[in-house]
Amino acid sequence: MDPRPLHKRIVFCDFDGTITVEETFSGMLEAFSTQDYHSAARQVGSGSMTLKEGVRRLVESIPSDRYPEVIDYIRGKQIRAGFAELLDYLYFHGIPFVIISGGLLDSVTTRLQDYTGRIHAIHAPTVSTDGPNLKLHSRWEGETETVAKAAVMAEYRCEHAVAIGDGITDLNMAMAADMVFARDYLAEYMKSKGRQYLGWKDFFDVINHLSKRWLAT
Ligand SMILES: [Mg+2]
Repeated sequence: MDPRPLHKRIVFCDFDGTITVEETFSGMLEAFSTQDYHSAARQVGSGSMTLKEGVRRLVESIPSDRYPEVIDYIRGKQIRAGFAELLDYLYFHGIPFVIISGGLLDSVTTRLQDYTGRIHAIHAPTVSTDGPNLKLHSRWEGETETVAKAAVMAEYRCEHAVAIGDGITDLNMAMAADMVFARDYLAEYMKSKGRQYLGWKDFFDVINHLSKRWLAT
């Protein structure tokens, strides 16, 4: 028998550009990497380097003694409206809220430290700082991604998975979900594939949709 608890519903959510208004991970890499960020971004964009390789190259170029500043970078970054209210709504209804991020776990937990009581889990890569430079570790490394988000989702048992995201690294998470809230690139992608999704601007839109859908069931 599968020992994992079976949840009726779980909400899986991206962090950068979804919970935060801006892209804090790429912003941090641009600020602290000693490699050429723009050249790496171009190579990833053109497909000559995978996202996984690009992220590792940039993260592991950062000297370990700058790690406290790396973490400080996230402080005060704007959270999208309605986030606290969505966490309250889900907590009240007993629905786990799970964050899956390709950014650094320490950054995500630092920014969300005021909300941890209402967050079921945060999955993201970690770094070690015992060498001269940071070293990146990810339990869910995929062929091209630092975090294969669908692989994280597969660790949970649930009848109905909701995904909330915005970017290219959310595609597989969206494909594995039963209901998708998409904005920006992810919305364009879903549209181009003829896949159903719900557009959203802030987390109040998500609460509105969920309460309408789920009151009926
Ligand atoms: Mg994102």
